[in-house]
Amino acid sequence: MMGHDYRNCIVCGQEEPEGIFIFDSFVCRHCETEMIKTDTAEDKYMFFIKQMRQIWLKQNA
Ligand SMILES: [Zn+2]
Repeated sequence: MMGHDYRNCIVCGQEEPEGIFIFDSFVCRHCETEMIKTDTAEDKYMFFIKQMRQIWLKQNA
């Protein structure tokens, strides 16, 4: 059966069918929505930045 590809979200670690790719890393729809609505002062945003930095470091290793 043709279906969604489930991928591991780099933010929450869940396997989700829908989301976006940042570099080669997958961020699920839920986390993408969270990121958009999250205030920059909140911990979630800082966590996301940390994750993004890890990806960036991997890309430039
Ligand atoms: Zn997620």
